Amino acid sequence: MPLRLTIAIDGPAGSGKSTVARRVAAMLGYVYLDSGAMYRAVALKALERKVPLENEDQLEILARETHIELKPPAPEQEAAGMTNRVFLDGREVTREIRTDEVAQAASRLATIGSVRHVLVAEQQKAGAGGGIVMEGRDIGTVVFPNAELKIFLEASAVTRAQRRWMEHQEKGEKVTVAKVMEEVRERDKRDRERKVSPLVRAKDAVLVDNTAMGIEETARLIVLLAREREKTSA
Ligand code: C5P
Repeated sequence: MPLRLTIAIDGPAGSGKSTVARRVAAMLGYVYLDSGAMYRAVALKALERKVPLENEDQLEILARETHIELKPPAPEQEAAGMTNRVFLDGREVTREIRTDEVAQAASRLATIGSVRHVLVAEQQKAGAGGGIVMEGRDIGTVVFPNAELKIFLEASAVTRAQRRWMEHQEKGEKVTVAKVMEEVRERDKRDRERKVSPLVRAKDAVLVDNTAMGIEETARLIVLLAREREKTSA
Protein backbone atom coordinates (compact mmCIF):
# COMPACT_ATOMS: atom_id res chain seq x y z
CA MET A 1 0.00 0.00 0.00
CA PRO A 2 1.76 3.24 -1.10
CA LEU A 3 1.98 6.11 1.35
CA ARG A 4 -0.82 8.63 1.03
CA LEU A 5 0.91 11.94 0.54
CA THR A 6 0.18 15.48 1.57
CA ILE A 7 0.40 17.60 -1.58
CA ALA A 8 0.64 21.37 -1.22
CA ILE A 9 -0.14 23.55 -4.24
CA ASP A 10 0.44 27.28 -3.88
CA GLY A 11 0.40 30.10 -6.36
CA PRO A 12 -1.14 33.44 -7.34
CA ALA A 13 -4.71 34.13 -8.49
CA GLY A 14 -5.51 32.65 -11.89
CA SER A 15 -2.60 30.19 -11.89
CA GLY A 16 -5.11 27.36 -12.28
CA LYS A 17 -4.62 26.02 -8.74
CA SER A 18 -8.23 25.04 -8.02
CA THR A 19 -8.94 23.15 -11.22
CA VAL A 20 -5.53 21.50 -11.29
CA ALA A 21 -5.61 20.54 -7.59
CA ARG A 22 -9.11 19.07 -7.91
CA ARG A 23 -8.04 17.06 -10.95
CA VAL A 24 -4.88 15.78 -9.22
CA ALA A 25 -6.94 14.72 -6.19
CA ALA A 26 -9.40 12.87 -8.44
CA MET A 27 -6.59 11.07 -10.30
CA LEU A 28 -4.92 9.96 -7.07
CA GLY A 29 -8.11 9.25 -5.12
CA TYR A 30 -7.16 11.92 -2.58
CA VAL A 31 -9.26 14.53 -0.80
CA TYR A 32 -9.18 18.05 -2.29
CA LEU A 33 -9.27 21.16 -0.13
CA ASP A 34 -9.50 24.75 -1.38
CA SER A 35 -8.14 26.84 1.50
CA GLY A 36 -8.99 30.10 -0.32
CA ALA A 37 -12.68 29.19 -0.05
CA MET A 38 -12.30 29.36 3.74
CA TYR A 39 -10.88 32.90 3.61
CA ARG A 40 -13.65 33.84 1.18
CA ALA A 41 -16.37 32.37 3.43
CA VAL A 42 -15.20 34.37 6.47
CA ALA A 43 -14.92 37.47 4.24
CA LEU A 44 -18.50 37.01 3.02
CA LYS A 45 -19.73 36.78 6.60
CA ALA A 46 -17.78 39.92 7.55
CA LEU A 47 -19.28 41.83 4.60
CA GLU A 48 -22.80 40.65 5.42
CA ARG A 49 -22.44 41.65 9.06
CA LYS A 50 -20.72 44.90 8.09
CA VAL A 51 -17.69 44.14 10.25
CA PRO A 52 -15.00 46.65 9.21
CA LEU A 53 -12.08 44.89 7.50
CA GLU A 54 -9.67 46.87 9.69
CA ASN A 55 -11.15 45.57 12.93
CA GLU A 56 -8.74 42.74 13.70
CA ASP A 57 -10.26 41.75 17.06
CA GLN A 58 -13.77 41.51 15.74
CA LEU A 59 -12.62 39.58 12.68
CA GLU A 60 -10.74 37.07 14.82
CA ILE A 61 -13.88 36.47 16.91
CA LEU A 62 -15.90 36.15 13.71
CA ALA A 63 -13.46 33.57 12.33
CA ARG A 64 -13.58 31.58 15.59
CA GLU A 65 -17.37 31.55 15.56
CA THR A 66 -17.64 30.49 11.95
CA HIS A 67 -18.26 26.94 10.83
CA ILE A 68 -17.04 26.23 7.31
CA GLU A 69 -17.62 22.98 5.48
CA LEU A 70 -16.15 22.07 2.10
CA LYS A 71 -17.84 19.26 0.20
CA PRO A 72 -17.17 17.67 -3.19
CA PRO A 73 -19.57 18.75 -5.95
CA ALA A 74 -22.09 16.39 -7.56
CA PRO A 75 -20.87 14.97 -10.92
CA GLU A 76 -23.03 17.39 -12.96
CA GLN A 77 -21.77 20.36 -10.91
CA GLU A 78 -18.20 19.21 -11.44
CA ALA A 79 -18.81 18.92 -15.18
CA ALA A 80 -19.95 22.57 -15.08
CA GLY A 81 -16.60 23.59 -13.59
CA MET A 82 -17.41 23.61 -9.85
CA THR A 83 -14.47 22.40 -7.74
CA ASN A 84 -15.87 22.58 -4.20
CA ARG A 85 -19.19 23.20 -2.48
CA VAL A 86 -18.86 25.65 0.36
CA PHE A 87 -21.12 25.88 3.41
CA LEU A 88 -20.97 28.82 5.79
CA ASP A 89 -22.64 28.06 9.14
CA GLY A 90 -24.75 25.45 7.34
CA ARG A 91 -25.80 27.72 4.43
CA GLU A 92 -24.50 26.99 0.94
CA VAL A 93 -22.44 29.96 -0.35
CA THR A 94 -20.62 28.26 -3.23
CA ARG A 95 -21.57 30.98 -5.71
CA GLU A 96 -21.75 33.97 -3.36
CA ILE A 97 -18.06 33.70 -2.43
CA ARG A 98 -16.92 33.91 -6.07
CA THR A 99 -17.39 37.65 -6.56
CA ASP A 100 -14.56 40.20 -6.91
CA GLU A 101 -15.84 42.01 -3.84
CA VAL A 102 -15.48 38.86 -1.71
CA ALA A 103 -12.07 38.06 -3.26
CA GLN A 104 -10.74 41.51 -2.34
CA ALA A 105 -12.22 41.32 1.15
CA ALA A 106 -10.68 37.84 1.60
CA SER A 107 -7.24 39.09 0.65
CA ARG A 108 -7.55 42.00 3.12
CA LEU A 109 -8.71 39.74 5.92
CA ALA A 110 -5.92 37.27 5.04
CA THR A 111 -3.33 39.85 6.15
CA ILE A 112 -4.48 39.43 9.78
CA GLY A 113 -2.34 36.92 11.68
CA SER A 114 -4.99 35.98 14.27
CA VAL A 115 -7.57 35.19 11.56
CA ARG A 116 -5.03 33.08 9.67
CA HIS A 117 -4.22 31.24 12.88
CA VAL A 118 -7.83 30.04 13.22
CA LEU A 119 -8.10 28.90 9.59
CA VAL A 120 -4.64 27.30 9.46
CA ALA A 121 -5.56 25.15 12.50
CA GLU A 122 -8.70 23.97 10.67
CA GLN A 123 -6.68 23.19 7.54
CA GLN A 124 -4.09 21.22 9.51
CA LYS A 125 -6.84 19.20 11.15
CA ALA A 126 -8.46 18.45 7.78
CA GLY A 127 -5.17 17.25 6.28
CA ALA A 128 -3.78 15.40 9.28
CA GLY A 129 -4.15 11.91 7.81
CA GLY A 130 -2.45 12.61 4.45
CA GLY A 131 -4.04 11.62 1.14
CA ILE A 132 -4.91 15.25 0.51
CA VAL A 133 -4.27 17.92 -2.11
CA MET A 134 -4.57 21.33 -0.51
CA GLU A 135 -4.19 24.54 -2.45
CA GLY A 136 -3.71 28.13 -1.36
CA ARG A 137 -0.94 30.64 -0.73
CA ASP A 138 0.88 29.32 2.36
CA ILE A 139 0.22 25.58 2.29
CA GLY A 140 3.82 24.53 1.58
CA THR A 141 5.34 27.24 3.78
CA VAL A 142 3.08 27.36 6.86
CA VAL A 143 0.19 24.87 6.87
CA PHE A 144 2.16 21.77 5.83
CA PRO A 145 5.87 22.65 5.84
CA ASN A 146 6.61 18.89 5.83
CA ALA A 147 4.37 18.03 2.87
CA GLU A 148 5.95 15.27 0.78
CA LEU A 149 5.22 17.16 -2.45
CA LYS A 150 5.03 20.93 -2.86
CA ILE A 151 4.16 22.66 -6.10
CA PHE A 152 4.35 26.38 -6.79
CA LEU A 153 2.08 27.05 -9.74
CA GLU A 154 2.76 30.10 -11.89
CA ALA A 155 1.53 31.56 -15.17
CA SER A 156 2.14 34.91 -16.87
CA ALA A 157 0.07 37.86 -15.61
CA VAL A 158 -1.71 38.14 -18.96
CA THR A 159 -2.60 34.44 -19.04
CA ARG A 160 -3.88 34.53 -15.46
CA ALA A 161 -6.05 37.56 -16.19
CA GLN A 162 -7.38 35.94 -19.37
CA ARG A 163 -8.35 32.81 -17.42
CA ARG A 164 -10.20 34.87 -14.82
CA TRP A 165 -11.88 36.83 -17.64
CA MET A 166 -13.07 33.57 -19.22
CA GLU A 167 -14.61 32.54 -15.90
CA HIS A 168 -16.53 35.83 -15.83
CA GLN A 169 -17.67 35.27 -19.42
CA GLU A 170 -18.92 31.79 -18.59
CA LYS A 171 -21.00 33.25 -15.78
CA GLY A 172 -22.40 35.86 -18.19
CA GLU A 173 -20.65 38.74 -16.40
CA LYS A 174 -19.58 41.64 -18.59
CA VAL A 175 -16.12 42.84 -17.61
CA THR A 176 -13.03 43.92 -19.55
CA VAL A 177 -9.72 42.03 -19.51
CA ALA A 178 -8.05 45.26 -18.30
CA LYS A 179 -10.38 45.44 -15.27
CA VAL A 180 -9.72 41.77 -14.42
CA MET A 181 -5.98 42.32 -14.79
CA GLU A 182 -6.14 45.20 -12.32
CA GLU A 183 -8.11 43.11 -9.80
CA VAL A 184 -5.67 40.19 -10.04
CA ARG A 185 -2.65 42.52 -9.83
CA GLU A 186 -3.95 44.29 -6.72
CA ARG A 187 -4.74 41.06 -4.90
CA ASP A 188 -1.42 39.41 -5.80
CA LYS A 189 0.52 42.45 -4.62
CA ARG A 190 -1.26 42.33 -1.26
CA ASP A 191 -0.79 38.55 -0.97
CA ARG A 192 2.93 38.72 -1.82
CA GLU A 193 3.76 41.77 0.30
CA ARG A 194 1.84 41.05 3.50
CA LYS A 195 3.89 40.52 6.66
CA VAL A 196 2.18 37.30 7.81
CA SER A 197 2.54 34.19 5.64
CA PRO A 198 3.08 36.01 2.32
CA LEU A 199 2.68 34.20 -0.98
CA VAL A 200 6.17 32.87 -1.63
CA ARG A 201 7.59 29.69 -3.11
CA ALA A 202 8.79 27.28 -0.42
CA LYS A 203 12.46 26.45 -0.99
CA ASP A 204 11.61 22.81 -1.67
CA ALA A 205 8.59 23.48 -3.91
CA VAL A 206 8.72 22.48 -7.58
CA LEU A 207 8.05 25.54 -9.72
CA VAL A 208 5.55 24.73 -12.47
CA ASP A 209 4.85 27.51 -14.96
CA ASN A 210 1.73 26.47 -16.82
CA THR A 211 1.42 29.52 -19.09
CA ALA A 212 1.68 27.22 -22.11
CA MET A 213 0.06 24.15 -20.55
CA GLY A 214 -3.55 23.05 -20.20
CA ILE A 215 -5.20 21.84 -16.97
CA GLU A 216 -4.92 18.19 -17.92
CA GLU A 217 -1.22 18.39 -18.79
CA THR A 218 -0.41 20.28 -15.61
CA ALA A 219 -2.38 17.81 -13.49
CA ARG A 220 -0.68 14.82 -15.14
CA LEU A 221 2.75 16.30 -14.51
CA ILE A 222 1.94 16.71 -10.80
CA VAL A 223 0.50 13.17 -10.61
CA LEU A 224 3.76 11.83 -12.11
CA LEU A 225 5.76 13.61 -9.40
CA ALA A 226 3.32 12.34 -6.76
CA ARG A 227 3.67 8.72 -7.92
CA GLU A 228 7.46 9.03 -7.61
CA ARG A 229 7.18 10.52 -4.12
CA GLU A 230 4.71 7.83 -3.07
CA LYS A 231 7.39 5.24 -3.83
CA THR A 232 10.34 7.10 -2.29
CA SER A 233 8.43 8.19 0.86
CA ALA A 234 7.01 4.71 1.57
O1 C5P B 1 -7.50 31.17 -3.79
P1 C5P B 1 -8.51 32.28 -3.72
O2 C5P B 1 -8.36 33.28 -4.82
O3 C5P B 1 -9.90 31.79 -3.58
O4 C5P B 1 -8.16 33.03 -2.34
C1 C5P B 1 -8.79 34.22 -1.95
C2 C5P B 1 -7.82 35.02 -1.06
O5 C5P B 1 -7.63 34.32 0.17
C3 C5P B 1 -6.43 35.20 -1.63
O6 C5P B 1 -6.31 36.37 -2.43
C4 C5P B 1 -5.55 35.28 -0.40
O7 C5P B 1 -5.47 36.61 0.09
C5 C5P B 1 -6.30 34.47 0.63
N1 C5P B 1 -5.67 33.18 0.88
C6 C5P B 1 -4.59 33.13 1.72
N2 C5P B 1 -4.04 31.93 2.05
C7 C5P B 1 -4.51 30.78 1.53
C8 C5P B 1 -5.59 30.81 0.62
C9 C5P B 1 -6.14 32.04 0.29
O8 C5P B 1 -4.12 34.16 2.20
N3 C5P B 1 -3.96 29.63 1.90
